Amino acid sequence: MGFEAVTGQPFRPSPHLSKSRFIAGTQCSLRLWNDVYRRDLATSWSDTQQAIFDRGTAIGELAQQRYPGGTLVGFKHWERSEAIAETNRLLADPSVPAIYEAALEHEGVFVRVDVLARNGYGWDLIEVKASTRPEKEVFKRDAAIQYWVATGAGLKIYQAGILVLDTNYVYEGGPYDLEQLFRLGDATEFCQEGLEATEAAVAEFHQMLAADKPPAIQIGNHCFTPYDCPYYGACTAGMEFHDHPISDLYRLNGARREQLEMQAIESILDIPEDFDLTPMQDRIRQAVLSGRPWQSPGLGKTLQEPDWPLHYLDFEAWQPALPPYPGMRPFQAIPFLFSAHMEDSEGRLTHSEYLHDQPTDPRRPLAEALLEALGTTGSIVVYSGYERRMINTLADQLPDLRNALMALNDRLWDLLPVIREHYYHPDFRGSFSIKAVLPALVKGQHWSDLAIADGMSAAVAYESALADDDLENRGQVFADLRTYCAQDTRAMVDLLRELKERAVNGP
Ligand code: SF4
Repeated sequence: MGFEAVTGQPFRPSPHLSKSRFIAGTQCSLRLWNDVYRRDLATSWSDTQQAIFDRGTAIGELAQQRYPGGTLVGFKHWERSEAIAETNRLLADPSVPAIYEAALEHEGVFVRVDVLARNGYGWDLIEVKASTRPEKEVFKRDAAIQYWVATGAGLKIYQAGILVLDTNYVYEGGPYDLEQLFRLGDATEFCQEGLEATEAAVAEFHQMLAADKPPAIQIGNHCFTPYDCPYYGACTAGMEFHDHPISDLYRLNGARREQLEMQAIESILDIPEDFDLTPMQDRIRQAVLSGRPWQSPGLGKTLQEPDWPLHYLDFEAWQPALPPYPGMRPFQAIPFLFSAHMEDSEGRLTHSEYLHDQPTDPRRPLAEALLEALGTTGSIVVYSGYERRMINTLADQLPDLRNALMALNDRLWDLLPVIREHYYHPDFRGSFSIKAVLPALVKGQHWSDLAIADGMSAAVAYESALADDDLENRGQVFADLRTYCAQDTRAMVDLLRELKERAVNGP
């Protein structure tokens, strides 16, 4: 697949680099070019992405309190020289123990360091991330460019660290214990050993940005690693994609993908008969070649396993970075909504749900409503292991309801592995997600016309609605959330019915 880069840009001097531009450049030089000259080509941030950025800002501010007595360097992003002057003044003042958002510049690279903390030997450089994994390569690169700038600007950096949230921390209520809430990953060695490589990358980026046209880069896996690139739409505009690309092969590993790409094979239809595929991949290939679904002989028997009445269950949960209630850890999922359809042996459906619509702890009222909705008889049909995890979480945190909640686990019946083992439709396109499976099997059923159409958006919408003083807006979001969750359980009802019919009448 070729990509002809955007052309026709006039020559201009190389602009400054920043942390984010440096990271963009390490992902793809065209992405960096576009960040500097063609921001208009980027897709705009979704509400979900914006919420993730906002979360990062809030955690950064909290992390500053872990280094007390520091001074914040303010100024707008275009007031670089003022911010640098203020930083220099604070660096020279030995009574300042820490500087937040320190502004530093070296050879055309301008960075804001989350925290510079003074120690007996020089400074510790701290990059704060709303994450739990300081070892991520992209975080270390982020620290490395700051380390290069700071040392180049004459600072003695004793340690470069990445401060993240510690999932071992259990919140006990009251103010957070900041020593336990955060943990510091050491990136000093990475930064020191990477100094030359960082310098070379900076020089390369400056040179590339000073050219009179953008680099010609083809799309590939790098468009999604480490971040989804906002220029993907622009880079793929006008391209024709195969109906059944090799990426539709379930869990195709890097080595196999490379083998196919070396033979210029982009479509499943072109894979040689003797090419080594897993049984699942071969099943997908056969279904694509024949244009017909595949169905196992054991499908009908497996579908008879669950006991009547059938309860179809789906949770929506949010994962607040900072634990809002005692007993919770950073990023622990907390269910705020469930939908339960119940179907009796005559095919009659009833529906119940619970949405926690107050900014208070949802765990107990939700768990009690759940136990009432699911009763004590019949199988509980779910799609994936997520519902079991949510029930386990509730059981761990509500000891008096633990036995009743754990008894629900004995009744769970997961439809996802059943479909994965017993059925494949070419329109699944390599995915067994319910969002892919439902429209392929039940025509006209999908989520695309819903205001909220995926779990991440649901979590973000819920968090925003709780903070929204406009009762009308809040009510609308809650209604949208209920509709979305109910659609998930209704989808399972329709899927199971459809599969039973196909088990009898053929795929
Ligand atoms: S979509 Fe891919 S090729 Fe295009 S700018 Fe982004 S990373 Fe580079």
